[in-house]
Amino acid sequence: MSVLIKDVLLDGETTSIYIEENRIAEIGRRVEADTVIDGRGKAAVPGFVNTHTHAAMTLLRSFADDMPLQHWLEKTIWPREAKIEPEDIYWGTKLACLEMIKSGTTTFNDMYFHMDEAARAVKEMGLRAVLSEGFIDFRNPDIGQELLKKQQSTIRKIENIGTDRVTASLGPHSLYTVSRESLQAMRELSDAKGYLIHFHLAETQREVEDCVTEQGMRPVKYLDSIGFLTRKLLAAHCCWLDPEEIDLLARDGVRVAHCPVSNMKLASGAMPYKALREAGVVISLGTDGAASNNNLDMLESMKFAALLQKFSSGDPTVAPAREVFEMATLGGARALGIDAGLIAEERLADIALIDLRRPELSPVHDLVSALVYSAHGNVVDTLICDGKVLMKGRKLPGEAEIVKKAAEVGRDLATRE
Ligand SMILES: [Zn+2]
Repeated sequence: MSVLIKDVLLDGETTSIYIEENRIAEIGRRVEADTVIDGRGKAAVPGFVNTHTHAAMTLLRSFADDMPLQHWLEKTIWPREAKIEPEDIYWGTKLACLEMIKSGTTTFNDMYFHMDEAARAVKEMGLRAVLSEGFIDFRNPDIGQELLKKQQSTIRKIENIGTDRVTASLGPHSLYTVSRESLQAMRELSDAKGYLIHFHLAETQREVEDCVTEQGMRPVKYLDSIGFLTRKLLAAHCCWLDPEEIDLLARDGVRVAHCPVSNMKLASGAMPYKALREAGVVISLGTDGAASNNNLDMLESMKFAALLQKFSSGDPTVAPAREVFEMATLGGARALGIDAGLIAEERLADIALIDLRRPELSPVHDLVSALVYSAHGNVVDTLICDGKVLMKGRKLPGEAEIVKKAAEVGRDLATRE
């Protein structure tokens, strides 16, 4: 199976991209393929990599807004999540995948519940995903031991789903919800099997203060003291880090996911981006779940990342468009250890085609700047993931049914007794 994107703009030049199976085989020379896509009036960019989300939270979109994080979690989100059924996750994830496809995302890193159902949805929708079952033992190691068995059984189900596009990882929620013993067990499991660890870290000032009160040290220092820092750790948020903690993250190759929209909405804080970058930490970009964003639009998150970093540092030269765009593409691919994030020969064929005739993109003096600052996800015309065309002309099969069914499930969940 081969696909040719003909006469498309790539890095400022008109060329053709030839895809064989799931890889980019050749740029520039081929003229024929099983499927030919007319690339005129379009630009090819790498599909976006969303490194922190909770996909099925689409069901709770706009359900509880304008609240502080702890109140939002404890009083509104967690009580609803306690009522979630496996079938809900399937439909919520289908809706999330649909939204991601329509806004140019080809890979996402997800943490939620009943993740075997999420895996089923992702497999059907054609995206690439790393899925972790959210792990919360309320800092009780006995509960943790039971949950660990469940975590491993979910991992086996995900691994047996039958596609290389979907992989499993470990999902300890955070240091304020998971016991030290469980965190250490996760680290051992990660070392033994190579799993990524998906984690929330230093999201709020309160998390830091509580950790200092209870452990006598800040979060990253504490995680270092219990042997949890590893290059397999992907830490979301990282808003509150001191210079010593940044050095520890850099020393151990921990990767981070910046989630600017969620951080601004919940007034959590701003990641010390410049210092992390200078320390050489791999920085990627996440939307966070649709309950705290409230969409999964990576182009919008790119703009927020650039603006938040400029605003919080008082320096408009911080987080320029190119760096932010790279966070959302190559940075994400590096954070997840996948061979995507660039349009180059032998890379995975994960490509978004941008409609250059959109008024908000015109005139295109600088495409990357225009995408980061002027565009939203609806400028994506065509999406290819793993060499398969998932959307063309902004249309994909079964769209209306997914929206309808997921809305029904979401309404039911919001009012379920
Ligand atoms: Zn999160």
